Amino acid sequence: MLTVYATETSEIYGHGKRFVIWFSGCTLRCKGCMNKELWDRSSGKETAVKDLLSQIIDSNTKGVTYIGGEPLQQGEDLLILSKHIRELGLDIVLFTGYELEELNELQKSIVNLSSVIITGRYDESKRNTYLTHRGSSNQRIIIQDESLEQFYSEEARQVEIIITEDSETYLGFPEDFLNDDNQSKERH
Ligand code: SF4
Repeated sequence: MLTVYATETSEIYGHGKRFVIWFSGCTLRCKGCMNKELWDRSSGKETAVKDLLSQIIDSNTKGVTYIGGEPLQQGEDLLILSKHIRELGLDIVLFTGYELEELNELQKSIVNLSSVIITGRYDESKRNTYLTHRGSSNQRIIIQDESLEQFYSEEARQVEIIITEDSETYLGFPEDFLNDDNQSKERH
């Protein structure tokens, strides 16, 4: 089972239209983390790998993004999910607060199945909202599939607004006035 806070389809968490999985649980506790509501595992719902795979297939997207929370604290089922995703011909973008040097063997196996990895703790003193896919300048983008380099070559502030009949959701780094009274998530 995997502990999932939310899933959504988005275009700002990696290249192209992606199925994004927000995992619950993170013990890294970066000062200034904007996703504190995801620190506690109990904020998420236990979800079977097969159920996530069904959602991924139904989403008709070209890839899957893991974010959180800390995806690499999910355990072996994340490796199983990753293998199935790759067998479907989809790629994986992984946001993690870990540096590669810190990973255990299981975490390395998950990283090895990911085409792009954004690594490192969020460092409040190095905050920069004009970086692509990173919240602070110490974080790194590691591209393991050379064909994707073109999508990660420019730095830019990104905001995605999802409007439904009942709500507006702001993803990425919206200006403060847009955050008021709205649900918003910020990447690592
Ligand atoms: S920024 Fe990411 S790694 Fe750091 S505490 Fe928040 S969720 Fe965890």
